[in-house]
Amino acid sequence: MESRIGLGYDIHRLQEGRKLYLGGVEIPYIKGLLGHSDADVLIHALCDALLGAIGEGDIGEQFPDTDPKYHNIASSNLLEIVLGWVRKKGFQVINVDTIVIAQEPALSPFKKHIQENLARILKIEKDCVSVKAKTNEGLGELGRKEAIACYAVTLIKKECFHILLSRYPGSPEKGSCGQDFH
Ligand code: MG
Repeated sequence: MESRIGLGYDIHRLQEGRKLYLGGVEIPYIKGLLGHSDADVLIHALCDALLGAIGEGDIGEQFPDTDPKYHNIASSNLLEIVLGWVRKKGFQVINVDTIVIAQEPALSPFKKHIQENLARILKIEKDCVSVKAKTNEGLGELGRKEAIACYAVTLIKKECFHILLSRYPGSPEKGSCGQDFH
């Protein structure tokens, strides 16, 4: 079984007049994150973790902020595209773990909803998605409520069919575990 890990990090400035999205969920707050897309810092970190695991660079390379196609795009769409690349390379996502660092707003009422939404997008069980939230103890730009940051880590595993195909190019359409390739 081939397993890989990936690490992602992102930070976005907070600004009045923007909606705040975290993990594809709209969070009621007086400010939102500034960015070319919807600036969902959690999904951006997660995309970077997945891209890192498959050796495909980072979100800035794949979805440049100079491309009008991505202006105000929902980051959940970007995550679905990245997940497609992960699966195309023969991997499935085993789990993701994330830490959002936000002095405000308090995220505990929204963590479960974010977890469920990410699990739905990634097509994995809820308990394979972890969303943790911390303040920055009032320190620095995060503590001054000027920005929100996020770390993400993921584990992916190569599906049976792809391992078999890479070893025996003429092998039948199912892996030894009976999995179909999708
Ligand atoms: Mg970003």
